[in-house]
Order: sequence, then C-alpha cells, then structure tokens
Amino acid sequence: MAPMSTTASQRSRIQQVNNETTILLVEDEQDLLELLRYNLSREGFQVETAATGEDGLKKAREMGKRLDLVLLDLMLPGIDGLEVCRTLKGRDQTEHVPVIMLTAKGEESDIVRGLEYGADDYITKPFSPRVLMARIGAVLRRREGEQRGGDGSVIEVGGVQIDNERHEVLVKGEPATLTATEFKLLSLLASKAGRVFTRQQIIEAIHEGYAAVTDRSVDVQVVSLRRKLGEAGRSVETVRGVGYRFRD
Ligand code: CA
Repeated sequence: MAPMSTTASQRSRIQQVNNETTILLVEDEQDLLELLRYNLSREGFQVETAATGEDGLKKAREMGKRLDLVLLDLMLPGIDGLEVCRTLKGRDQTEHVPVIMLTAKGEESDIVRGLEYGADDYITKPFSPRVLMARIGAVLRRREGEQRGGDGSVIEVGGVQIDNERHEVLVKGEPATLTATEFKLLSLLASKAGRVFTRQQIIEAIHEGYAAVTDRSVDVQVVSLRRKLGEAGRSVETVRGVGYRFRD
C-alpha cells in the first residue's frame, strides 16, 4: 500500500482528530492485520486488534464506550464476520457502533446479508489506504450527524432538497412531482447519502401496508425516480449485486 499523500500540516490536524477515535480491527490474515494497524495508527487512530470472531466480540465488550468503529473481515475461522456483525448490532452496548465489512470480490450475497444485519458499509479487498480512510471518515461523519440529531425534516444533498414534513422535493430549486413511494425511496437513500441500501431494506422502508413490493418493483421505482430528478438522478447509484445508494 502506498503512503497517503497528505501534507505534514494536514496530517497533524487529521491525527489530532483521529487520536480520539478507537477502531477495533478484526482480521485473521496476519499480514493484512499488521498493514492495516500500521496505516490506521499512522493516521492517528487508536487501534485494537483481534484475529478471530470470538476474540473480536470479547474485545468489543471490554472496550465499552471507547469503541468508535469496527473494521470487520467477513471470512474468519470459527464465528464468521456476519455472525460477529449480527451480534454487535444486537447488543445494546454496540448497536450504534459503525461496522465496515472487509470483503473479497464475489461475496455480494454476504455483503447483502451484512448490510441487512446492520453493517454501515463495506470495502472490497484489495483496497488502498486512501480509500479505506475515506470510507472510515464518511461513516464517522454520518454517525456524528445522526448523533447531533436535527429532526431530519429537511434533507439537502447533491442539489436535491427534500422536505419530509411538507412532502416536497426541489431539484436545483425547481419542484419535482414524485409519487408517495418515490418520495419515500428518495428520502430513505438521501437521509444516509453514501450508504448502500439493499433491495430488502428499501422494501421494508417503503412498504405500503397491503401492497406487495418486490425486488423488481424497487428497480422500477428507482428508474422512475431518476427520470423525475433529471440530472440529479445520476446521484441515485446502482451498486451491482448489492442495492442502491445516493452518492455522497
Ligand atoms: Ca479472512
């Protein structure tokens, strides 16, 4: 992995912020674990490590409120990453701690399950330190935004303004006419810009009582939503084999 190309002053500023952030890294490949530990420490993060799912869960419990984020390999001996993710998201103590899954190519079905268990993002191996730091930064910013609260009544992202109370959408200041389902879909994706939602998660969020919603109908809604958003529709991205996201 190449070193990050940041200046010395940028680096010291980033390190100061990161200094208060503790990451638990769960990875059974020793070389990768050491490399990640090195890169994360270099960015100023506090790093704890575990080489098995069992140890990861134990460490997470011991770390308590010090734990800010989990980097979790999916393919682990014993309790696998999916089970670790499900357990972390099921514990009161860790349900709000962001989890980024480390996955191999071709693990789309595991990625989908991980997202449905509550994982916040994933990154496919091999990845550069720059991409990893960007993902970590995005997940932490999103979490911070959620904690700061705000009632989420108005969302503004990528030139699109969504007023959840008035059920209005403005694209570059011009009103867009969306159906109730399209509105819910847009509001869901834009409320966590950058996060991938699986089709199942979208179905659960936009489900209209009696109406059956299928994977296929989600795809149809997305196509229609994109068309109505015009240029801004490009922000609604397809993540092949996984789902959809609103570009951050
Ligand atoms: Ca592994």
